[in-house]
Amino acid sequence: MVKIAVLKEKAAGETRVAATAETVRKFIALGADVAVEAGAGLSAAIADADYAAAGARLGKAADILAGADIVLGVQGPDPKSLKGIAPGAWIIAGLDPFGQRARVDAYAKAGVEALAMEFMPRITRAQSMDILSSQSNLAGYKAVIDAAAAYGRAFPMMMTAAGTISAARAFIMGVGVAGLQAIATARRLGAQVSATDVRSATREQIESLGAKAIFVDSVEGIEGEGSGGYATEMSDAYKAAQAELVSAHIAKQDIVITTALIPGRAAPRLISDAQIASMKPGSVIFDLAVAQGGNVEGSVADQMVERHGVKIIGYANTPAHLPADASALFARNLYNFLSAFWDKEAGRPLLPDEDEITAAIRLTKGGVIVNERLLATA
Ligand code: NAD
Repeated sequence: MVKIAVLKEKAAGETRVAATAETVRKFIALGADVAVEAGAGLSAAIADADYAAAGARLGKAADILAGADIVLGVQGPDPKSLKGIAPGAWIIAGLDPFGQRARVDAYAKAGVEALAMEFMPRITRAQSMDILSSQSNLAGYKAVIDAAAAYGRAFPMMMTAAGTISAARAFIMGVGVAGLQAIATARRLGAQVSATDVRSATREQIESLGAKAIFVDSVEGIEGEGSGGYATEMSDAYKAAQAELVSAHIAKQDIVITTALIPGRAAPRLISDAQIASMKPGSVIFDLAVAQGGNVEGSVADQMVERHGVKIIGYANTPAHLPADASALFARNLYNFLSAFWDKEAGRPLLPDEDEITAAIRLTKGGVIVNERLLATA
């Protein structure tokens, strides 16, 4: 019987858990034995008793890892903690392969097969397994909610007996999964919303959500969706045109949510200190990219910084601020992945070497790094 172990997250500030009572039950229905580290779900509002009722064994890390074939995590476990697992066991989590290269090397050395969920390819078949999408969606929502909480005014237009309050103006920079959810959330709260991106395909998406599209027209951006839905670093001419456009627009905004990322690189700088100085005091900027280097000059992870009367916020780990929902979706992503590759005869998931998903997410096997993206940046 294949043994799945679910660890309690050890990283500072990580409140999520990689399995819920629901996914434990589903893994057991597939024929797996599931063991959960005691207390693993507490910060996501899942009690040990809930896991036990779903059929999981509970125990200390060393006990649940003994003989484990598959170890599930939100973030990658410390390689030193993995003693006792089965040879060639799979480690499945958000492994931050570029940021935590030494840890990936240690997984290779330990002879385990490390599978990085954030490298899931953007193909239709893998959509339900995509942790970047599920977590970004919630992060986009949370950014708007927390920006609204820090804003000393209301979002919607209000007509009261004492007079009228005008609607907040919200500007969303970067319209991927997080940005689209930020637009929808800010609209629901009653703000007047505008948004921008470098990928031309987002123009229609912005407009279909009832927001105004603000685009650089003088220099060509990225045609359509971009490669795999991702942006690349832009030319200097584009950056200059974007800075000019943003300068003209941002001074009139009350709320700015930045979400721009470029895979494997530092986040692009979108807002300078001079642009912040042009904003009205009391405005709020939420930098969702703060942990990847930041879109906003002066933003500091997990701190509220005030510059020129403007509040700048951003979390090192935004989904961890919604642990119950973020865990529920993350856990389903893991289940959807493993169940799609479940081999009934073998009684466990099998990853064919030639499968596109295997090639994309497998980092280590047989003691070495095997992933093309990682090898290209070695
Ligand atoms: P992301 O987190 O990598 O980046 C966020 C956004 O920032 C992107 O829209 C990007 O274009 C934008 N950006 C980058 N540099 C910028 C700059 N200098 N200025 C302004 N904006 C900039 O992106 P994401 O949220 O992961 O998604 C990107 C796309 O991939 C979306 O269209 C999404 O629908 C698609 N997607 C497809 C699948 C799938 O088919 N399985 C899964 C997830 C996402």
